[in-house]
Amino acid sequence: MSRIASVLLPMPLPEAFDYAEPEGMDLAAGDQVAVPLGPRLIRGVVTALREAAGGNRPLKPVAERLDEPPLPPRTLEFVQWAARYAVDAPGQPLAIALRGARAPKPRPVRVVVPTGVAPARPTAARTRVLDAAAAGPLPPADLARTAGVSSGVVKGLVDEGVLALEQIVVDAGFDPPDLSRLGETLNPSQAAAAQVLAGMARTGGFSVTLLDGVTGSGKTEVYLEAAAAALAADPDAQVLILLPEIALTQAVIARVAARFGAQPGEWHSDVAPPARRRVWEAVAAGRCRIVVGARSALFLPFAKLRLIIVDEEHDTSFKQEEGFIYQGRDLAVARARIEGAGVILASATPSLESLRNAEQGRYRWLKLSARHGVARLPDIDLIDLRETPPETGRWLSPPLREAMAQTWARGEQSLLFLNRRGYAPLVLCKACGQRMTAPDTDSWLVEHRYTGRLVCHLTGFSMPKPLACPHCGAKDSLVSIGPGVERVEEEARELFPDARISVFSSDTVFDAREARRLVETMAAGEIDILVATQAAAKGHNFPNLTLVGVVDADLGLRGGDLRAAERTYQLLAQATGRAGRRDRPGRALLQTYAPEHAVMQALKAQDRDAFVAAEMSEREMAGLPPFGRLAAVIASGPDGAQLEAFMRAMAEAAPNAEGVEVYGPADAPLGLIRGRRRKRFLVRADRAVDLSAYMAAWRARVRPPGAIRVSIDIDPYSFL
Ligand code: ADP
Repeated sequence: MSRIASVLLPMPLPEAFDYAEPEGMDLAAGDQVAVPLGPRLIRGVVTALREAAGGNRPLKPVAERLDEPPLPPRTLEFVQWAARYAVDAPGQPLAIALRGARAPKPRPVRVVVPTGVAPARPTAARTRVLDAAAAGPLPPADLARTAGVSSGVVKGLVDEGVLALEQIVVDAGFDPPDLSRLGETLNPSQAAAAQVLAGMARTGGFSVTLLDGVTGSGKTEVYLEAAAAALAADPDAQVLILLPEIALTQAVIARVAARFGAQPGEWHSDVAPPARRRVWEAVAAGRCRIVVGARSALFLPFAKLRLIIVDEEHDTSFKQEEGFIYQGRDLAVARARIEGAGVILASATPSLESLRNAEQGRYRWLKLSARHGVARLPDIDLIDLRETPPETGRWLSPPLREAMAQTWARGEQSLLFLNRRGYAPLVLCKACGQRMTAPDTDSWLVEHRYTGRLVCHLTGFSMPKPLACPHCGAKDSLVSIGPGVERVEEEARELFPDARISVFSSDTVFDAREARRLVETMAAGEIDILVATQAAAKGHNFPNLTLVGVVDADLGLRGGDLRAAERTYQLLAQATGRAGRRDRPGRALLQTYAPEHAVMQALKAQDRDAFVAAEMSEREMAGLPPFGRLAAVIASGPDGAQLEAFMRAMAEAAPNAEGVEVYGPADAPLGLIRGRRRKRFLVRADRAVDLSAYMAAWRARVRPPGAIRVSIDIDPYSFL
């Protein structure tokens, strides 16, 4: 009897489509196939096969089974689980899972190889070329350069038949990790933690451990021991290390390569498509045993995943906010459960969610309470900007400038932290008072001096800074309000004209290579003052960095969403934690207008536990995460009245359920993006409620008009 194949397509469709399995194709779940959809052939993945009952209308047949690695069953299960959790179409996570499979293959290159024929005239230059060629295939120009000869020498040898040209696909492969190598000698508390983690990795199976250690306590050293144990336990075992930033992946890749003598697979948005393809295939085949990557690496087709490490697990960058909306840390735990793998969540400032799970005994809890060796945690002081303000139009207060001068005099490094890109967050006309805003979007334009443009950070819209006010026409009337990193750099240059100063933000460091270069330059002590956004404030080791100045410690508290205090605490604890990581004592200074605020007091006293306890009790009283669940509905459309009517209908359609409260509809704080009006609902539920199921039921009751887009955000981090 013939069979029917359910095929999931990597697009936002509500379900898999049925196709007939052609005679003899012999499909299996996970196979990549090409199927007709309208006039086109589309790549999809078989999710299930069943016997055709007969009598149904004829189905279109599967066009082809692709000669590509199948998606492993557990990867497929994870994709489907993730879609259900996120209340989204399963084709969305499938598209992420197939990203590597759909990337172009690495292209063959022309190389020269020895043929075994001896040269007629063996000159010194020719001998050097033959020696170099014997070491491995190289493109002709590279071979000439390596041998230190002109390209004519190589060409002559090819013409003579001593060397031959061949097309090959350079596949550096993935060397197996060298498990005979040893890591650093661990101190007693590191060794104790490593022993527990290694035991977990050896035993295998699903479990979650929170590795809770102060900045510089050696969490990375410790989790690499767990990785070593996992890799040693099974010759096919694979380990995934997730990081929140591309800049951090670079540092960890270097440490993994040093520890295991093998380059791990690298996976993030900046990896070129052919390299992505290579990693994807090697992961599916089990040849690539260690992957270091950003959150989307969770969707790779691991053949035998044994351990997932989520480093800086508290970091909000693990939340993907666009397209398929998911929290990478939470999905890491879900994937591990499906794979029967262990999870290590590492952080100096764990999320309240993970701390709660650890307190409740759902996660194992390991603590490292001191920095390694002689390094101490930095002293943290608050600078009350009401008492010692900077001069008008300046952003560095006298005490901070003084500390920078002392640091510079000692030949040590300073880091000025300001989580704001560009030169000034706001530009206004001093003649008419109008603020420069983005067209069609509720946001102020940010001034960027390096490029001379005004930029909308939400949509990417940009324009040259006008010479006259577009509203009133006044000339030279536009003034820059407030600081961004570029402006702080300008001030630092005026104060320290001889210092080597660099800026680290996503505008100056746009790819992995540049990030690596800047981090290395800083680590080598070749920068005196680094002005940085959060991109550089996390995770790095800068041995000679002894002063961290936080330019605007209050920044993250404004706007005050659910996690504002938690996030500010985490970010500033991370930033200040960069200081004094070796033998020299470090110091951190926080400029604030609210020194009495609980977050500032907790940072100064370095009393995380008191801060967490206060924050937990507030969340518990309000029934907010981690004590309750949240979800958001964001609807947008070009026509305000139509959107309003749809939201009213949606409010009426909200199912009644015990332990669920629906708030809204309300205008989103960002009420207009790219000409689309936005409105929101916020849903709060008790922990026992399956909020994904509730949202799915609600979503199924409404049918938005074509122009309206509805997205559901389970466990929202952004409330804009
Ligand atoms: P964390 O991840 O907790 O911030 P790291 O693992 O990056 O800490 O360690 C901080 C610094 O201390 C790194 O430079 C690391 O190489 C060093 N270090 C940590 N533990 C040891 C150890 N046992 N022996 C030698 N160096 C260590």
